[in-house]
Amino acid sequence: MKASHLFYPTLREVPSEAEIVSHKLLLRAGFIRKTSAGVYSYLPLARRVLRKIETIVREEMDKAGGQEVLMPIIQPRELWEKSGRWSVYGDEMFRLQDRHKRDFALGPTHEEIITTLVNAEVHSYRQLPLMLYQIQNKYRDEIRPRFGLMRGREFIMKDLYSFDEDDAGLSIAYQKMYAAYCNIYDRLNLKYRVVEADSGAIGGNESHEFMVLAESGECTVLYCDRCDYAANVEKAECYTPADVAPAEDLKPREKIHTPGLRTIQDLVVSLGIPENRQVKTLMYWADGELAAVVMRGDRDVNEIKLKNALKCNQLFMADENMVRQQCGAGFGSLGPVQLGARVYMDQEVARMANFSCGANQDDYHFINVNPGRDFVPDGVFDLRNAVAGDLCPVCGGTLAALRGIEVGHIFKLGTKYSDALEATYRNAAGEEKPMVMGCYGIGISRTMAAAVEQNNDSDGIIWPLPIAPYQIIIIPVNAKKADQMQAAEDIYRQLSSEGWEVILDDRDERAGVKFKDADLIGIPSKITIGPKALQENQVEVKKRWEGGSRFIPIEGISAKVREIIGPQLSTTK
Ligand code: ATP
Ligand code: MG
Repeated sequence: MKASHLFYPTLREVPSEAEIVSHKLLLRAGFIRKTSAGVYSYLPLARRVLRKIETIVREEMDKAGGQEVLMPIIQPRELWEKSGRWSVYGDEMFRLQDRHKRDFALGPTHEEIITTLVNAEVHSYRQLPLMLYQIQNKYRDEIRPRFGLMRGREFIMKDLYSFDEDDAGLSIAYQKMYAAYCNIYDRLNLKYRVVEADSGAIGGNESHEFMVLAESGECTVLYCDRCDYAANVEKAECYTPADVAPAEDLKPREKIHTPGLRTIQDLVVSLGIPENRQVKTLMYWADGELAAVVMRGDRDVNEIKLKNALKCNQLFMADENMVRQQCGAGFGSLGPVQLGARVYMDQEVARMANFSCGANQDDYHFINVNPGRDFVPDGVFDLRNAVAGDLCPVCGGTLAALRGIEVGHIFKLGTKYSDALEATYRNAAGEEKPMVMGCYGIGISRTMAAAVEQNNDSDGIIWPLPIAPYQIIIIPVNAKKADQMQAAEDIYRQLSSEGWEVILDDRDERAGVKFKDADLIGIPSKITIGPKALQENQVEVKKRWEGGSRFIPIEGISAKVREIIGPQLSTTK
């Protein structure tokens, strides 16, 4: 491709709307343009990258036994009513009506469609197992579309659904997908980690997320420094050894006047009580009932764990006026002692002694409160977010934290959808049984952004070779010089004919501009044709991902190029 024809409108300025580096660079390098919040056009360079990611994903899905299909984006309301999700999905679902005022959704996911499809066609165990997948746009009206392609409202996903006779079959499908996902992220040359993920209030079902590691990631990953344990922060268990009792004598509880002191920090500053000697009380509505969560002052509530522990469907934070009416005090003065609501205590608090907390009277706190003696909670659970430094729940090692971007998610659904949509088959004994399902997603467009997030420098993107839009860019320093252009054209033709994907920057621009653009768009290797080297029939070759360069003779250039950048390529072809 000649750069003079390539549609890659680069920007000098960093667009002000972009916060994270992948968003900035994909805009600046002319890969994407925004249409509306979370909705983008993919320009030619981006399309090439996406195609390469899709190819790798397709190859691995096919190898694992998947068959590609393409299902409708427009999905009728009736199917979503059947599964119960027309109302549950809420505002995240894009809805529309046809001319007859019939309701439809733009597919945010395809369990309803595929389960109905498979149910209509599959009747016998002989037709199972089955794995069907598609690569297609998904639509989710996210509350906060942001970070460019990371959290779009229209985005590209690969979704595969497995159908089996029983749990044993599902486990095999799940293992195949797990392995296929590892192959995919290995082949994409991305640094990633597989973590245990939460699988919702019903529990018991297995789920893993694939996280590309990057500072800007929205997710926190906790992993053990000693064993293989890794989980996302929503799931990571907090392990508190049962035999560690408080090593303190219990002191008498006292009520103290604390005018104007409302936050944990206020008590640290004014009374010198450290955060880890305080207990905070947070109020929620759990399925219509007021619930207090009590935990150490420096910890964060994990609402997913809370929801699972309380087995509730709806959970949201209570508003202060309602709480004051029921409990007699505002947020800054609440505590578990004689509180007018159910009290759920984080397990760590059971190991604390002589802590301070609100006294359920404005401007008063208790000090030297002890669980069991001063209050008896309605439940004790693991309710906080794990943090770096916690003990590993598997081996007792120490957990460390990393930031990650969730690019893939695999999930054992069991019979959730087959029960709701009555998807059954007849087993070998002639009995009618629900199909056992799994679903497996990869964010294709998010993976592209994650690749940039992990591979960039101050000059621009550094594409991993397997997904680079082009592998080589040839830059004649001065496009007006006939000898340079001639050499550039010859090399371009030769490398292209051998299957390399090459850009020839034939634009009449200063060399500096061309070098800057080449670095910005992230082409992995650059061949520069300058006047001096050309006199000796040489060109300069530089890899985007390392410093330094080398001169090589034009004679036999393709063998030389293969020698320099070939090894990386050979794993991808
Ligand atoms: P998240 O927690 O980030 O919202 P999710 O759990 O809703 O993700 P899934 O429904 O499991 O995501 O979708 C499968 C994959 O699709 C995700 O792992 C992610 O890579 C991608 N994905 C989900 N939502 C978006 C989005 N709004 N924009 C881009 N990619 C997305
Ligand atoms: Mg989501």
